[in-house]
Amino acid sequence: MTKEVRIKENIIFGNGEFNIIAGPCSVENYEQMDEVGNLLVKNNIKLLRGGAFKPRTNPRSFQGLGIEGLELLKEMKEKYNLAIVSEVIDINHIELLYDYIDIFQIGTRNMYNYSLLKELGIQDKAVLLKRGMSATIKEWIDASEYIRIGGNEKIILCERGIRTFETYTRNTLDLMSIPIIHNETDLPIIVDPSHGTGRKELIIPAIKAAKALEADGAIVEIHPNPEEAYSDGFQSLNFSEFNNLLKSIK
Ligand code: PEP
Ligand code: MN
Repeated sequence: MTKEVRIKENIIFGNGEFNIIAGPCSVENYEQMDEVGNLLVKNNIKLLRGGAFKPRTNPRSFQGLGIEGLELLKEMKEKYNLAIVSEVIDINHIELLYDYIDIFQIGTRNMYNYSLLKELGIQDKAVLLKRGMSATIKEWIDASEYIRIGGNEKIILCERGIRTFETYTRNTLDLMSIPIIHNETDLPIIVDPSHGTGRKELIIPAIKAAKALEADGAIVEIHPNPEEAYSDGFQSLNFSEFNNLLKSIK
């Protein structure tokens, strides 16, 4: 049985609902975030994602706005009553992020960062634990135990694809992890088809499949103008594509 992870009275993972988290890969500026916030509220979506500290493969790529990005997220939280999901990449940032976010996101590159996981284990806010890009399901479950052992049971797993020999997609979205996680653990699980496929046209089929497999939700990258995005624009849906997605899974 999946245990419920309650973020707010009206936002619960693991109760049979399919929760959508949406927002840009990176927080860039007020206009971008305001347009996204407005779109989410119009569609009754309650969770906003946005990276303020970005773990980029190339050190010369945009690294995120940092505190300025967190401030923008907070503005959206207050203006639109959204819950905020943002990535923590450094143990020294936990205290800072705590005041801005509702869910700490652990990215694929940090699934094995056990000191970071242990520190999140003593927090009272939820953690979205992405699967390491080369992690087995067992290693991913073990990583969740690093959080749980400290007392924090508010853990949501996120399947975001693994590296395989396939190059057509950015990663291989291992959808079978959904029933496996449901069989092996009591944790809710969501999917990230944006990083999981890296291809816009696969996002709708991936989410439909995840829903059919009883996932607890999905996290999707969207942007008012994907061509201009500072990161991951190629896989981000524009607003009309996102509207189509919402229609297709109603
Ligand atoms: C992200 O969500 O923007 C991100 C960096 O994801 P991942 O850690 O899955 O690559
Ligand atoms: Mn991204």
